[in-house]
Amino acid sequence: MTDLIKDISIISEGISTNENKDVLVSQNTRKLYIESYGCQMNFADSEVVSSIMSKNGFDTTSVLEEADIILLNTCSIRDKAEKTIRHRLGQFNGIKRANPGIIIGVLGCMAERLKKQLLEEEKIVDLVAGPDAYRDLPNLLSQVDGGQKAVNTILSREETYADISPVRLNSNGVSAFVSITRGCDNMCTFCVVPFTRGRERSRNPESIIKEVKELIINGYKEVTLLGQNVDSYKWSPNLELKGKAQIEKAGEPNIVVFSDLLELVAQTNPLLRVRFSTSHPKDLSNEVLYVMSKYENICNNIHLPAQSGSTRILELMNRTYTREWYMERIDAIRSVLGEDCGISSDMMTGFCTETDEDQKDTLDLMDYVKFDFAYMFHYSERPGTHAAKKLTDDVPSDVKSARLSEIITKQREHSLYRNKLNVDKIEQVLIEGFSKRSDDDFNGRTNANKVVIFPVENYKIGDYVDVLITDCTSGTLIGKVVKQEIA
Ligand code: SAM
Ligand code: SF4
Repeated sequence: MTDLIKDISIISEGISTNENKDVLVSQNTRKLYIESYGCQMNFADSEVVSSIMSKNGFDTTSVLEEADIILLNTCSIRDKAEKTIRHRLGQFNGIKRANPGIIIGVLGCMAERLKKQLLEEEKIVDLVAGPDAYRDLPNLLSQVDGGQKAVNTILSREETYADISPVRLNSNGVSAFVSITRGCDNMCTFCVVPFTRGRERSRNPESIIKEVKELIINGYKEVTLLGQNVDSYKWSPNLELKGKAQIEKAGEPNIVVFSDLLELVAQTNPLLRVRFSTSHPKDLSNEVLYVMSKYENICNNIHLPAQSGSTRILELMNRTYTREWYMERIDAIRSVLGEDCGISSDMMTGFCTETDEDQKDTLDLMDYVKFDFAYMFHYSERPGTHAAKKLTDDVPSDVKSARLSEIITKQREHSLYRNKLNVDKIEQVLIEGFSKRSDDDFNGRTNANKVVIFPVENYKIGDYVDVLITDCTSGTLIGKVVKQEIA
């Protein structure tokens, strides 16, 4: 395994344990330890779960040994993600033996996918709750306290947890995630998300703005608006309409679309950096690009997963765009937002029937775009998906791996090429924390989402600074502060 593949799997199937910096004085008597796996949505959901639990007698702790309840917020996107969770559950056997009263719960996508079956397969588990069942956690816990096992995996057409103020976990106090949509209606044939996170629905814009304003009051400088497909955000004041599909069908005139929401968030404070993820190529509209160009505080960066450069494979994936459509969207981004707009992608190799010719198309597309960054995976068949039912997972695993290595090598060249364009330039950076390697250096990100490392000097976390970029690797820019901006 190359270092880059290791890095990618650590990022994409990353783990975070909880450390709640917001709790001041609490009457709570029990302790919750929560670990989050997978995508940013799961990390944001864990903050909602901590909020619900804090109102029901539990403070979060980052010390496993202190816990009265352990919750794993899980990911099902690839087989490897589920194996990681099962391995982790195995590690809790000793803890349960030493403390039989401890409650162990599984939340998120794996809970939703396996439902009751998880209780049968993993005897250590007491509680299973899907992504739309977190409000029911207090009830599920009382069932467990009463000696029963408890499951709720009912999906909802309307739950957005809009009124819940998330408890920020592992926060650097500078940047925060704000969920704006839940679920996904896209039905890409390889993907388990529509089955584990349910139908797409958008959160009330007022509650989003309220959350953003609270973050600003608490000193946060950057928000990332989150959803599986943020560009298809659609909210209707007609609360009778449940979910995106009903709103579209009703032809509701007063709907708020993503470009409207983005503008509202950008207007809350010109010093707040605004990011969003993920954009689906079929939904990224010119209006969104125009709003991005109008507001300096909306970061010049778009995560636009291509998956493949072959139209034939894109069709089999049901991505609903062609290679040419994707390239046209890239041209539109570059023409409205300029060449220095950061563009990143997710790429998948080895999907059903993929040939060397398809792989060549993917490499060609990567050459055309020259992504700043990409998450790269090989296809992992997921039970219940259209691909698992109707297509054959016929690319041998050694071919999948070889193709993955090929695109990783290509991406590394492109990342280096794109990073070199920043050398000798001055970039505005928001300081997010200390460098992982040394407390003498800070790390922060440029507007285009590139990580920059530079000496601490007399600056502090949360400052905006102008950094002269002096050097780079394929993953990082290296520089020195030349000027501090308004804090
Ligand atoms: N909603 C986002 C989109 O459409 O681009 C993606 C969300 S998904 C959680 C993140 C990425 O996981 C996908 O873009 C895809 O590259 C990858 N992925 C999803 N299903 C996969 C599978 N069965 N095997 C391998 N990678 C997969
Ligand atoms: Fe999965 Fe496709 Fe929805 Fe993304 S858009 S979450 S890949 S079904």
